[in-house]
Amino acid sequence: MGFIKDERPQTICVEGTWSLSSYHYKGSKLLEQYVKGLKQKKLIGSFCPGCAKVILPPRNLCGRCHRIMDGRKTVSDRGTITCYTVSPAITKGKLKVLGMDPVETGLIKDGEILIPVFVRFDGSDSNTDTILLNAEPKAVHIGMRVKVIWAKEPQGALSDFEGVEPI
Ligand SMILES: [Zn+2]
Repeated sequence: MGFIKDERPQTICVEGTWSLSSYHYKGSKLLEQYVKGLKQKKLIGSFCPGCAKVILPPRNLCGRCHRIMDGRKTVSDRGTITCYTVSPAITKGKLKVLGMDPVETGLIKDGEILIPVFVRFDGSDSNTDTILLNAEPKAVHIGMRVKVIWAKEPQGALSDFEGVEPI
């Protein structure tokens, strides 16, 4: 089986205009169910009827046995860190995310250290990537117990799950 680029060496062009303002992106049903759970401060994963694995965030297809994961299961909002990294202090002008300086935009405080982590929530068989907050960087370790930090007033958005903190 060859590559499409071999069969079509030239880029296909379509004449005309494409008004992006009229284009609406719809989130998947899967994501919709997930954020509805977040609004109730619940982590809803997908359950595989074939191998009984629970994956968070939910997926449509099991990566292990390739069955449709149409079951849902609520997992605990407490879990264990399985992987982490500690960033250097992020200062103004040092980093660009999507072309923007996160310190200038106010997303990150000048000199802040970020700790991205993978967490295996109790009742889940997958690692969920998030950010560790309210923790001393030197105290972070694999096996550290953490819990979700929920938004004060969940809106049914991904941002309802703000990160995790040590228990
Ligand atoms: Zn499976």
